[in-house]
Amino acid sequence: MDTMTKQERSRCMSQVKGKNTKLEIIFRRFIWKKGLSGYRLHAKLPGRPDLFFGPKRVAVFIDGCFWHKCPVCFKSPKTNKKFWNAKMRQNIERDLNSDIKLKEMGIEPIRFWGHEIKENIGSCYKKLRKTVDK
Ligand SMILES: [Zn+2]
Repeated sequence: MDTMTKQERSRCMSQVKGKNTKLEIIFRRFIWKKGLSGYRLHAKLPGRPDLFFGPKRVAVFIDGCFWHKCPVCFKSPKTNKKFWNAKMRQNIERDLNSDIKLKEMGIEPIRFWGHEIKENIGSCYKKLRKTVDK
């Protein structure tokens, strides 16, 4: 049974979206402090990477744990399972496809989970730096 009204659902979705944007800003601030810059935001590339380091050919994605079904945090929704599962499957498929397309273009995709940014931003930065400096 669907216990969420349409309105409630769209509010819920925008909250999730807003959270991702916040994580992106937190990450950007962190790497800026570390002196890492030279990226573009939401470049018109497959999957619309959050950050794109053009000359280095590195695309960064910060994936929301819920929407992209993080293996660590994901909890199956209790209501309207079919709807959510289809939605998430779409997201995951899109992620895989954009990774493949990016690689074909000679761009290396890096993905961080929301909880990684929240809990261990330092190691996310290190991973990114390593790839960018390659
Ligand atoms: Zn997670």
